[in-house]
Amino acid sequence: MATVTEDQIAKAIAQANVPDMDGDVVSLGLVSDIHVKDGMVQIMIETSQERASVMEEVRKDCEKLASEVPGVLNATAVLTEEREAAPAQPALDLTQDERRIKAPGVGSIIAVASGKGGVGKSTTSVNIALALSRHGKKVGIMDADIYGPSIPRMMGISGQPRSEDGTRLIPMENYDVKCMSMGFMVPEEEPTIWRGPMVTGALEQMLRDVEWAPLDILIVDMPPGTGDAQLTMAQGTELAGAIIVSTPQDIALLDARKGLNMFRQVEVPIIGLVENMSYYICPKCGDEAHIFDNGGAKETAEKYGCPFLGAIPLDVEIRKTSDGGQPIVVSKTSSPHAKAYMDIAAKVIVEIDRLNQATVT
Ligand code: ADP
Repeated sequence: MATVTEDQIAKAIAQANVPDMDGDVVSLGLVSDIHVKDGMVQIMIETSQERASVMEEVRKDCEKLASEVPGVLNATAVLTEEREAAPAQPALDLTQDERRIKAPGVGSIIAVASGKGGVGKSTTSVNIALALSRHGKKVGIMDADIYGPSIPRMMGISGQPRSEDGTRLIPMENYDVKCMSMGFMVPEEEPTIWRGPMVTGALEQMLRDVEWAPLDILIVDMPPGTGDAQLTMAQGTELAGAIIVSTPQDIALLDARKGLNMFRQVEVPIIGLVENMSYYICPKCGDEAHIFDNGGAKETAEKYGCPFLGAIPLDVEIRKTSDGGQPIVVSKTSSPHAKAYMDIAAKVIVEIDRLNQATVT
């Protein structure tokens, strides 16, 4: 498969003209971010509320143009609100704890984040959530990924959540794990502009207005990257800690470091690092091949003084089961991969207990 670069995508989407602005989306400086990973492309386009309907067309054009680049498997473009000229938001003062969104009746909220898209963050979130549940915890998973909800599909859930009283939503559920998605919270037909207050609003609704309780752990699948939306979530939510998912390639690890730093900046403890697609297992002979420099995430974890939670191989079974709505932790419970996720989940439990004790004393 041809390797797609960010430059190729920029060149392709430069054919998208902005009708009323006399220029294309790239040269007008409206593209704030392009991520490419394993054929998966994510594009951020800036707009203001007034221009939303014009820019929705441009957004669609960009998705189409990017998906036509050879080697691209999937392209997603999202609209975000123009950055304000004001300086970057300062980290929240921890004494203003009440400004952080809490979920009533939920023990610990844990963010699963990655420096960039396509590293298997959602797959890892789902399997860890299911593994925590198999360890006897009451677990929920919340899909906060603005690039499109993949958690319901991976959890084998379809449809919309119901409400009995017209205000509070009942989360969807499968495999004994409750589930909500950002995709349920936005009107389908309208162009969606993801801006700080809206992200916070949707997040707040998903945390406060959903019948999560009682839960021990709520896993939040964060949008990939370390931009404004991610920062808003990291600093605006009462997070017990964060798990960072990364692949072994150096470049991904550089991004992973950005992720680590983002949580550090807003004083959210790092529960640990998971290395996904760490090595390759041949589906024919079962042989292990370390195609990438192995141990990158472990070394990074050591260097940053945070726990290394474990390594998950690149294996077609993991992809098939999660994309098919029957994640490996529940569909092949005795497989070595299910065990690897169970081990990671066990370490997460230990780490949360340790963090909880640290806050009590
Ligand atoms: P992200 O949330 O980081 O964008 P996803 O979890 O959606 O990434 O994963 C991207 C693709 O890679 C999906 O098709 C998923 O099934 C696949 N994938 C994730 N982890 C693995 C793995 N360890 N082995 C094989 N395929 C994987």
